[in-house]
Amino acid sequence: MLNALDFDINDWIKYLSDIGEQKFRAKQIFDWLYKGVTFDEMTNLPKKLQQKLKADFVENSVKIHTKLVSKKDGTRKYVFALADGNIIEGVLMSYKYGNTICISTQVGCRMNCAFCASGIDGLVRNLTAGEMAGEVLAVNNDLGKGSRQITNIVLMGSGEPFDNYDNVIKFLKLMSDENGLNISKRNISLSTCGICDKIYKLADDLGGVTLTISLHAPNDEIRSKIMPINKVYKIADIIDAVKYYFDKTGRRIIFEYSMIKGVNDSSDCAKELCSLLKGLPCHVNLINLNYVKEKGLQSSGKEPVQEFLKILKKNGVSATIRRTMGSDIEGACGQLRRKILKND
Ligand code: SAH
Repeated sequence: MLNALDFDINDWIKYLSDIGEQKFRAKQIFDWLYKGVTFDEMTNLPKKLQQKLKADFVENSVKIHTKLVSKKDGTRKYVFALADGNIIEGVLMSYKYGNTICISTQVGCRMNCAFCASGIDGLVRNLTAGEMAGEVLAVNNDLGKGSRQITNIVLMGSGEPFDNYDNVIKFLKLMSDENGLNISKRNISLSTCGICDKIYKLADDLGGVTLTISLHAPNDEIRSKIMPINKVYKIADIIDAVKYYFDKTGRRIIFEYSMIKGVNDSSDCAKELCSLLKGLPCHVNLINLNYVKEKGLQSSGKEPVQEFLKILKKNGVSATIRRTMGSDIEGACGQLRRKILKND
């Protein structure tokens, strides 16, 4: 059984021509699928084609397994079941301007950052483009079938998007397709731990999406201790790559900086970060580390984060403290993980 969401318009055109159907059906099918409609409900298709589609495809292979709603801020964590029994997680955050979904790009992750729950089991497998689209559509339908409730997408759940590059690019194209959800690239953010060759490639292949870098340290000594990827790509490589990304796309770069007690939160770190980012068109999101019990690292606490922010601002670096959402349901940054179905 194929996942219908893995098909883009060209895949549909090819499939239809292979089975002797007309090309214009491709847009009809694509449009219906993104409205969350089943093959049986695709009323403008001939019965024979509906039957053929039902025999070959499942409309969305990603099913909502559980939904948890934060009592603190209404953030929803979705636990999704995949066709092969794996479980992934996504998060829906509602703001005044719209609904943002944070999706996973891999089952597990092999980056093994010292503070993050997603890499605890290592990488299990990549998600396909259709599975990523399935996360978005399952939630869209949960908010109201046929609706276009989701306005923003962030690739910040489990997994490293650049470790699954081809599927992620296909997914991004699917999301911005005008026949589907038609989400503007500006409303999509991709977050990476800093796989630099893919930053250049994204700028050349697609551009337009907001690039977020998980930096978390102002120098290589600290960064290499908490993020193994830094042994391959150094901070200077990241700075070169994001300059290229900005020149090519005109999109300001976002840096994520999670404050870890005694590791990266001193005023010296703040000053060093200012020198590093001086003159770069960027914004820094400071967040207090979210608790992950297996990792044993502590968050800095309110005051050190405020202090850090002050230093950045005084030195002309654009920065804000990001509100932690969904921490009571383990739905905050770095708390998403691969759960397994019972008895596994
Ligand atoms: N692999 C990508 C996508 C994951 S995004 C990346 O590294 O960017 C998840 C974000 O949450 C990243 O910025 C990550 O560094 C951050 N994060 C991970 N664990 C965290 C924790 N315990 N507290 C706060 N942020 C965390």
